[in-house]
Amino acid sequence: MSIRTRQAVLQLKPYSPGKPIWEVQREHGLDRVVKLASNENPLGPSPLAMEALLRSAAELHRYPDAGFSELRSALADTLGVTPEHIIAGNGADELIKLVAEAYLETGDEMIVPSPSFTEYEFTGVLMGARVVPVPLRADFTYDIAAILGAVTPRTKLVYVCTPHNPTGTYLPRGELEKLLEELPPSVLLIVDAAYGHYADADDYTDGLDLLRQGRTLLVLQTFSKIYGLAGIRVGYAVSRPEVIEALLKVKEPFNVNALAQTAAAAALADTDHVSRSRELNADGRRYLTEELTARGFTVVRPSQSNFILVRLGAEAGRIYEGLLQRGVIVRSAAVWGLPEYVRITIGTPEENDRLLEALAELG
Ligand code: PMP
Repeated sequence: MSIRTRQAVLQLKPYSPGKPIWEVQREHGLDRVVKLASNENPLGPSPLAMEALLRSAAELHRYPDAGFSELRSALADTLGVTPEHIIAGNGADELIKLVAEAYLETGDEMIVPSPSFTEYEFTGVLMGARVVPVPLRADFTYDIAAILGAVTPRTKLVYVCTPHNPTGTYLPRGELEKLLEELPPSVLLIVDAAYGHYADADDYTDGLDLLRQGRTLLVLQTFSKIYGLAGIRVGYAVSRPEVIEALLKVKEPFNVNALAQTAAAAALADTDHVSRSRELNADGRRYLTEELTARGFTVVRPSQSNFILVRLGAEAGRIYEGLLQRGVIVRSAAVWGLPEYVRITIGTPEENDRLLEALAELG
């Protein structure tokens, strides 16, 4: 187990999410604010999930099911594995932390793409591990040779995020297979497919089919994105039963609340809502990519996700602030060391047009 040093804790930086709607309303005296900053589902939650959640509220005096058995079975049926292959968490965030707690000791190494979702690095530093960033290529695609080249005898975990946050690019199936083949068996590969439901490239895989074929990897997914349940915090990890067993040992007893378990199971069954969300996203992604390109901006392609990364150049800071003043929140990519870029979540057609109008006003 890790000896967490005080030094490791002092190194940590608090998580800084995008600005919330209420703050922009208050700061700029606005009623209507469009938030395209946190990759949420603009259609909201499934109505079936809402109904199930309200029904289960009558049982709030009871503790939740510590083993989330209903949700676990529903996920197992949907994903084509047995329940022993699945753990649910208080968001995928919690699962990222559980992986670090279960697998990292002080001095171990963990490879993460750079840039990437900041939670990976946070959990590695928290456990006193050495976090080894491997840069993406200049076009923001993965460099598998560089990842393999960074592996040492101390490497325990390798993270890939596909579709990748914050760029929207993805790791093609062939490259994921090569990575799996060439990593030493002592290294656990984690495929963060939080945005996997939005991907439509022929050679995209979230890794679940490789897992079903008996390969060892851990796939992370969430109910916060296409299922529209970010506020209630449910994610899940799928891996071999012995990996899941290790994560179950370090979780809090009642880590997924009762409302979340019920809502997630109902959301999973609402395949129409998922299809509608996927189509709305694909249309909006195409539309915004074309419109922004026509206006002279560079959009990182191909986005396989529910957001696009857009290069605004030296004016990025001014444009970001100008959008806030006009009630449109996007995410500055400065947190990922990309100050000339912003990450824009695909919204409803009205929200996408609001963004384009606000950009036009800014000149
Ligand atoms: N992985 C990635 C790549 C993400 O972008 C996010 C959320 N922003 C998560 C995991 C965590 O998702 P959750 O809301 O389930 O904690």
